[in-house]
Amino acid sequence: MAPITKECDYLVIGGGSGGLASARRASGQWGAKTIAIESNRLGGTCVNVGCVPKKVTWNAAAIAETLDHAKSYGFSIKQTAPFDWPTFTKKRADYVKRLNGIYDRNLEKDHVEWLHGRAYLHSKNEVEVQLHDGGNQTIHAKKILIATGGHPNIPNTPGADLGITSDGFFELEQQPKKAALVGAGYIAVEMAGMFHHLGTETHLFIRHDSFLRTFDPLVQEKIMSEYERQGIIIHRNSAQSKVEKHPSKPGFLNLHYSDTTTKDGVLEIDCLLWAIGRSPEVEDLHLDKIGIKTDPKGHIVADDYQNTSIDNIYALGDVCGKIELTPVAIAAGRKLANRLFGGEAHKDDHLDYTNIPSVVFAHPEVGSIGLTEPAAKEKYGENEVKVYETSFTAMYYAMMEKQEEKAPSSFKLICVGNEEKVVGLHILGEGCSEMLQGFGVAVKMGATKKDFDNCVAIHPTSAEELVTLK
Ligand code: FAD
Ligand code: NDP
Repeated sequence: MAPITKECDYLVIGGGSGGLASARRASGQWGAKTIAIESNRLGGTCVNVGCVPKKVTWNAAAIAETLDHAKSYGFSIKQTAPFDWPTFTKKRADYVKRLNGIYDRNLEKDHVEWLHGRAYLHSKNEVEVQLHDGGNQTIHAKKILIATGGHPNIPNTPGADLGITSDGFFELEQQPKKAALVGAGYIAVEMAGMFHHLGTETHLFIRHDSFLRTFDPLVQEKIMSEYERQGIIIHRNSAQSKVEKHPSKPGFLNLHYSDTTTKDGVLEIDCLLWAIGRSPEVEDLHLDKIGIKTDPKGHIVADDYQNTSIDNIYALGDVCGKIELTPVAIAAGRKLANRLFGGEAHKDDHLDYTNIPSVVFAHPEVGSIGLTEPAAKEKYGENEVKVYETSFTAMYYAMMEKQEEKAPSSFKLICVGNEEKVVGLHILGEGCSEMLQGFGVAVKMGATKKDFDNCVAIHPTSAEELVTLK
């Protein structure tokens, strides 16, 4: 072990959303001497290979959709060349690089020292860092936060390494002609939508009959049928037996699969993307040596105050696997810094993990907060739950001639008890990602159906349907 070269109040392992938010709050607001360690690029998953480049790509896909729709409004726009993937991805990478710089400057502004290197735990107060540019340092810290995030899973299917994950999606230099995505969660659904709208033939392989199975049945059903209407090919009840390089076409793969209708299928593709979930990034941390408890999937076990099983060591964000979203990691990080360094007034600060809204950037967007209908019925009993639901065509589609060109909008409100407290809100359609944030405030405040009814509608919008449900 290298001799101790630095000492601090707060040592943060991981320069992603959660780690940086916590480090900046501890140092910038509370004056704790703070060091952050990041082995890769500042900003972590969200900035480099997650939310940010994903949303920019989703915007591009949404523009492609709008170009398609423009003719219905009288425009004579015709796309004469394919989408310029190389130029777009280069600009996107430059944007991310600029954000990395902003993160760096923000750390400086808040007096957080950051080291570029890989950290592992030596003891409950000591962390060793293998510096990126060579050499080691040992840091003694009064308190340590582990916010090391996660990485995408790859199955043990023979040849699986020939595929990529969401990380590789952002490294693709050319747009695939024909892509297969395996998975049924946020990433598979979002990336399938983006590929399709940008012009790639898209095959989505799911293990069951439906994707987004943790979402309300309304969301599953509507988005599944909308994706198929748009032309995404969904392989239900599928499995992959092996992946091989195509014998004669360079850059192509043969994916061997089965699904509901095909027993020994082979699909020729130039991109295979695994989106089958993520695992915590804990391998190098030496958690066992310190006795930090993990769950069967390797996530660090932390309570609602982000305490681990070891006194002065805390954990939050994706490495805990509770709710894997950027604002969750940020909020938990800030609350923890407040609690540890903010004095008496903040001694109980912690994140309330209930009623956290989230969006799937599908086409159309999905927004969800609270319980699904089956979960509400299981929790409160069938008779206590009242469901309000509507499906309609957004006015945006008024100028489109064919019904089949129009994407659906569907809203569901799940209420319980005599006072009809809203315990679940599930929306899909045009503008839903932006719409959810405000309704999220209402649900978090404990709004009832009557509160929704008492809010005068804004006309003509899709959102007004949520305050006029019968
Ligand atoms: P991370 O951001 O993963 O940061 C952890 C950091 O720790 C990494 O930078 C890593 O390099 C570093 N690290 C790991 N081990 C060590 C070590 N031993 N030493 C030093 N450093 C180490 N969430 C949303 O809210 N909205 C979205 O739209 C959204 N889209 C997403 C799209 C994709 C494709 C993906 C993959 C995720 C998306 N997420 C989204 C989820 C979101 O990115 C994560 O929940 C969030 O980044 C978690 O933050 P974190 O701080 O816990 O971990
Ligand atoms: P998810 O956990 O959302 O979904 C992965 C799904 O893939 C599983 O639920 C499972 O669904 C399916 N699956 C698992 N193993 C296999 C397998 N071997 N073969 C085929 N399918 C399999 O993980 P993601 O990787 O999509 O995303 C990780 C997390 O990142 C998300 O949970 C979310 O918290 C976050 N994220 C958030 C986004 C946002 O806020 N917009 C966007 C992207 C990610 P089933 O059981 O139905 O087969």
